[in-house]
Amino acid sequence: MSSPTKLACHECDQVVIIPALSDGQKAICPRCGFVFTRYFKKARSRLLAFSSSSLVFLLLSFVFPFLIFTTQGNEKVISLVQGLQSMGSGTYLSVVLFMLATTVLVPVMTLTGINYTLISAKLDKPLPFTRHILKLVFLLQPWNMAEIFLLGILVSMIKIASLGDVQFGWSFYSFVLYIISMAATRVFLDKYQVWQWFRHHDKRAYSYER
Ligand SMILES: [Zn+2]
Repeated sequence: MSSPTKLACHECDQVVIIPALSDGQKAICPRCGFVFTRYFKKARSRLLAFSSSSLVFLLLSFVFPFLIFTTQGNEKVISLVQGLQSMGSGTYLSVVLFMLATTVLVPVMTLTGINYTLISAKLDKPLPFTRHILKLVFLLQPWNMAEIFLLGILVSMIKIASLGDVQFGWSFYSFVLYIISMAATRVFLDKYQVWQWFRHHDKRAYSYER
C-alpha cells in the first residue's frame, strides 16, 4: 500500500489527501475528476519488464531492414533511419532532426533513465543524479512520438504500394513491438508513485512536483 500524502489538484487546485491505495486503486479529485495516481503492487517489476523490452525492441529496429521495396526487378532495402530521412525529405533539415529526436533520441533517453531509476529503487539507495534523471524522464515524456512516425510510414506505404511490391522487414516488426511495449511502460510509469519510491531517503529532494 502507498502512504497518505496531501496534494493540490493539477486542474482545479483543490487540496486533496491522497489515501493509502491498494493494488489497482486510483486516487481522483472529488471536484473535477482529475486522476492523481494509480497504484499497482507489482508496478516496479512490470515497469522493468516493459521498459527494458522496449529498449531492446527499439535498438533491434536499427539492425535489420525496415522496408523492402521491389519495382521492375530492382530491390531497395530501407532502414529505420533512411525511413526517417525520407519522411522528412523535401522539407527543412529541422523537421528531419525533430523526427529523429522524437522517434529515436527521446525514447532511448527516457527508457535508459527509467531503468537507471529502477536500479536505484531496487538498491533502495538513490544512485548519483537519480533526482535529475527522474525530472528529465517526466519532462521528455510528452515528446515521445514514435507512433506518429509509424502512422506516417503506413500512410506513405499506401501511396507507394501502387508503384511496386512493398514488404515489411524484421526492423518493422521490432518497431511495432517497441510501440506496444512502450504503451505498457506508460501505464506503469506513474509520476506520483515513482517519486514515492525515494521519498523516505530525502523528503525535500524527492517531493512530488506537478
Ligand atoms: Zn481537481
